[in-house]
Amino acid sequence: MGTIIKVTSPDERAAEVVFEEFRDWEEKLSHFKKGSPISRLNRRGKVRTDPEVLGLIKRSLEVSFLSSGTFDITLGPIIDIWKKAIKNKRLPKSKEIDNARKLIGWENIYIDENKGLIKFTKRGMKIDLGAIAKGFALDMAVARLRKEGITSALINAGGDIYCLGTKYGRRWKVGLRHPRRNREITKVYPLSDKAIVTSGDYEQYFTIEGKRFSHIIDPRTGYPADSGICSVTVIAEEATIADALATAIFVLGEKKGLELAKKFNIKEVRISKDCF
Ligand code: ADP
Ligand code: MG
Repeated sequence: MGTIIKVTSPDERAAEVVFEEFRDWEEKLSHFKKGSPISRLNRRGKVRTDPEVLGLIKRSLEVSFLSSGTFDITLGPIIDIWKKAIKNKRLPKSKEIDNARKLIGWENIYIDENKGLIKFTKRGMKIDLGAIAKGFALDMAVARLRKEGITSALINAGGDIYCLGTKYGRRWKVGLRHPRRNREITKVYPLSDKAIVTSGDYEQYFTIEGKRFSHIIDPRTGYPADSGICSVTVIAEEATIADALATAIFVLGEKKGLELAKKFNIKEVRISKDCF
């Protein structure tokens, strides 16, 4: 999943359980792994898969619906264009973006739950679960830990964090870094049995022609999000939802972003606009 995963636990089995779970879900959810259901879907336009993958796609669509499409797993073709642009250090042509935009749209995913079928209604569509898969794998890892009787762990999967139980009876403490001043901690949250996920433009971003771009795309324009936000942190029961919402809020901006969080009954969202 292109990230480093750190596990802290008094139980020495914890790390291996978490790594195993992440490995398994990467195999299933990555569009880079040729044999994954997601790759097959991207190649053939349809796939039969298991209820877990189907469920994740359904939840993605739910977030798309409630976020006015600012979270969208069908951005694959646009993301490819921006990847190429980064490699060549050249902005894409607007024509290229316009063409790819015709293939974007979460409404064009069709699901038949009884058959376990996911289908694209347009040729050339591609999904990319980059904004939700890490959160989902994290929730699955936590479920596995609980099943194994492991009740205390802190997992950090590149900014997607879960605090399981407590640290010897006290809540885990998670500090938020200032989006620009690396060594500065702006806030500390004591947490237990909660996910805390941050989407920012400071761990992953790129510069073309002197301008800084985020790796989060605004599906309404096809261009990198530019809402004035440089970091969003969401605290939730589930990392899956926290991950998806952090991305959507990053695109929506503060006002609409907070309205979206409300719809999911999220109590804590922290937004930073210290983006100088
Ligand atoms: P992080 O890299 O911090 O995990 P996100 O969770 O926000 O960041 O995921 C960003 C990734 O999600 C991008 O690299 C891309 O693959 C994909 N993506 C970009 N923009 C969107 C969007 N608006 N909706 C859904 N997925 C997106
Ligand atoms: Mg995300």
